[in-house]
Amino acid sequence: MSAELEACRAALARFDIDDNPRTVQQKSRDFYWYSPVLKDLLQDVCGDLVVAPRSEAEVIEILSICHRCNVPVTVRGAGTGNYGQSMPLQGGVVLHMKHMNGVVRIGNDHLVAQAGAVMADLELAAREKGLEIRLFPSTTATATLGGFIAGGSSGVGAIRWGGLRNPANIRRLRLVTMEAEPRVLDLVGDDIAKAAHAYGVNGVIIEIEIPVDPAGDWVDVLIGAPDFASANRLAFRLGEDDAITLRMLSTFESAIPDRYFTRHAPFLKSGEALIAVMVARQDLDTLVTAVDDTTGAAIRFRADRDGAGMRLPPAYELAWNHTTLRAIKIDPSITYLQMMLPQDDLYDAIDRIAETFGDELILHFEFTRFSDKVAAVAMPLLRYESTERLEEVVEILETRLGVTVFNPHRVTLEEGGMKRTDPAQLEFKRHTDPKGLLNPGKMIAWTHPDWVPAPGRIFLFNR
Ligand code: FAD
Repeated sequence: MSAELEACRAALARFDIDDNPRTVQQKSRDFYWYSPVLKDLLQDVCGDLVVAPRSEAEVIEILSICHRCNVPVTVRGAGTGNYGQSMPLQGGVVLHMKHMNGVVRIGNDHLVAQAGAVMADLELAAREKGLEIRLFPSTTATATLGGFIAGGSSGVGAIRWGGLRNPANIRRLRLVTMEAEPRVLDLVGDDIAKAAHAYGVNGVIIEIEIPVDPAGDWVDVLIGAPDFASANRLAFRLGEDDAITLRMLSTFESAIPDRYFTRHAPFLKSGEALIAVMVARQDLDTLVTAVDDTTGAAIRFRADRDGAGMRLPPAYELAWNHTTLRAIKIDPSITYLQMMLPQDDLYDAIDRIAETFGDELILHFEFTRFSDKVAAVAMPLLRYESTERLEEVVEILETRLGVTVFNPHRVTLEEGGMKRTDPAQLEFKRHTDPKGLLNPGKMIAWTHPDWVPAPGRIFLFNR
């Protein structure tokens, strides 16, 4: 341990700290192993100690001490992120938000919670008041609100409300800066984007205000379709029908339910593509009629009718990145991609992908709303052969097939999604973390302002 780290540890002794090497290693990891590329790259990454603040005042004190001792701080919610987002690349303190998990206030149209609150607990608290939250990741059972805002992007609810980038979906972020005398800032309006989806590189989020709406009574339904194209045509019709209120809309090529949806297998028909929806109970009959009117489509499962006593997972645990989890559990050679097909050329693009990759890339779409239009975001399963082949697949998709790939096999903000520096986030970091101690290594622009993305090239961080 360096002298600075030793001094830091001594100064932090009065807080809830854990320096047991086993648990520090556990709390230094997330679901990075979803990516065989990151699994190799990050396996030795480990923090030096875990510190769990209990209040805003403690966050301020801890950050001030770490700032004085030049010790990096990486915030951790539940560690369910997929890209090593919460892994401390340069060691130091893992700031675990587990104690700051309370609901602060629930109003008629908003909920205020501490950042470490578990998403499922927020939904429960809202429901006690006849309300529900708008968006949650399929990891809602364990993921925290702070981790979702800082690391996530979208999830259940996106078909109604769009993803986290829709400014209406986050009302306020309260964060603490990493300075000699940390400041507490409340970000509202356009300023929220400075710290949302920034992997905690420019502030520790401690409190969040989100909108809530009257609670729905949602029913899981699985619909079979003869092929993936017809599943998507029906999905767009359902998603665009104002008479059918949906909370989730997902489609899967037949290989996915056939191979990986084993718990629902008794209800499914082999060889069929699948649509999974969460539909408002009052619109269930309208949905059933729409399916009955569609040649070749059939309702295969309705949670209000089927599966009693079978303890089946909710539909959202078949969708989003749970699709990948189900596949990896059965076939560890599977990994995944995140991508956007050209929406105006969707069906040809689906055909081109099938012709080019066959069983190597199996499609799965999540439906969302962009500026009030329904759009399909792809989270396909990819059979992993080698890093070289994975890079080649991404390059073929982007350069030959007109697909935009948001590469989940990258640890940095720039390479994972945006493919560019976010100038507002970078500028904000200059003020909130002048020493660059928050989650170092995740924002390339901080150390390499001239960096530009290049196909197949991974930015290598310094330990
Ligand atoms: P963590 O993994 O702990 O952290 C995520 C990032 O946020 C890290 O960079 C961390 O440093 C930062 N961070 C955490 N808390 C704070 C804070 N208080 N202040 C500042 N920075 C902070 N994601 C989706 O968006 N939608 C999905 O539907 C979805 N489904 C998933 C399914 C599976 C099976 C898995 C494994 C992952 C999935 N994810 C999904 C990714 C992940 O689960 C979510 O993004 C989740 O919300 C992350 O929350 P967390 O508490 O685990 O965050």
